[in-house]
Amino acid sequence: MLTDVTTDIKSLTREELATVFNRWRQPAYRVAQLLQWLYLRRATEWDAMTNLPKTLRDQLKGEFMLQPLELVRKQGARDTTQKFLWRLTDHSLIESVLIPANPALYGEASDRHTLCVSTQVGCAYGCKFCASGLNGWKRNLMPHEIVEQVLAVERWHQRETGREKSEGRNADGALVTGAAAAPAPPPVRLINNLVIMGMGEPLANYDNLLKALHILNAPWGGGIGARKITISTSGLAPQIRKLADEPEQFRLAVSLHGATDEVRSRIMPVNRKYPLRELTAALEYYRSKRDRILTFEYILIAGVNDSLPQARALATLARRFQAKVNLIPYNQVEGLAWDRPSEAVCEEFLAVLEKQRVIATLRREKGHDIDAACGQLRLKTERELASTT
Ligand code: SF4
Repeated sequence: MLTDVTTDIKSLTREELATVFNRWRQPAYRVAQLLQWLYLRRATEWDAMTNLPKTLRDQLKGEFMLQPLELVRKQGARDTTQKFLWRLTDHSLIESVLIPANPALYGEASDRHTLCVSTQVGCAYGCKFCASGLNGWKRNLMPHEIVEQVLAVERWHQRETGREKSEGRNADGALVTGAAAAPAPPPVRLINNLVIMGMGEPLANYDNLLKALHILNAPWGGGIGARKITISTSGLAPQIRKLADEPEQFRLAVSLHGATDEVRSRIMPVNRKYPLRELTAALEYYRSKRDRILTFEYILIAGVNDSLPQARALATLARRFQAKVNLIPYNQVEGLAWDRPSEAVCEEFLAVLEKQRVIATLRREKGHDIDAACGQLRLKTERELASTT
């Protein structure tokens, strides 16, 4: 492993850090101390790591970056979907979305907080309904830029909680008095569910994504269970096969959005490269290796993929793979001409699936008012910046 001062420390696994510390003749327990600073206390400065000797801190400073994401904009109120727009060191903008507990989405009911993270700046796959691809693809995110999205949201939450406590308010916004108005609490982990479904095609950034997920999954890192991590793909068949062979038990969600080649190719250019025949063959392989639930994501677009024949074809596919279906009524994107179907059409589509005994949910949208479709906040901010320069 080569490192230089442009390598962020959070792109390294524990094993890689152990190799570096071994080379520097540091005792092994220093690695554990450093990891606690990075992933439990979420430190953003070397000098905060007070139980590491100054000489070691200086050595780390000379070899690695420790760069937090810069919050540019946040939309959404507490207890609703909240969207974060981050600036990277090269000034690129990416988004993460924090989704409060919703048992209908990616797991069972609990006080879960789900974070949807980006994996690329822009996207090359050009799905016709999506804002992320509108300005094309810029670059892959490095592992630490994926990991940092989780840490940065947790840092933000920690700050908010601390501020509320110091203002004498509890997490629900109610006034508290006397001893209850306590100082900021110790760090706690907020994110316990992760969906890799933000900007970019996750499996097109395969190696960086898998390394980031290794770090986020590890008990010494993010501590998020592999079964609580869902990787989404627009249908990259070869990478689905590769993922099936990985040791970690990550979940897979396929952004299907069309149940026949004709409809899918119309809105998803990737389908011309990997048509349903190839995609389903890869999913068969995945299922043969992983006896676990697949999810099909299906954005309902008026007059495009919301017909009853599409619903029936989708039901057939879902039954074949015992897949769960998430129906998502389309979120309007400025500059794109697609429409959201009426509620009645969405309900009718859902009813066809349910009649075929497919487990399906219809998202009664949480993020409609905050540009929640992936890439929209970034696009809006870039357009605003462009118009002021
Ligand atoms: S839906 Fe996903 S794969 Fe398609 S353009 Fe948007 S970000 Fe890329």
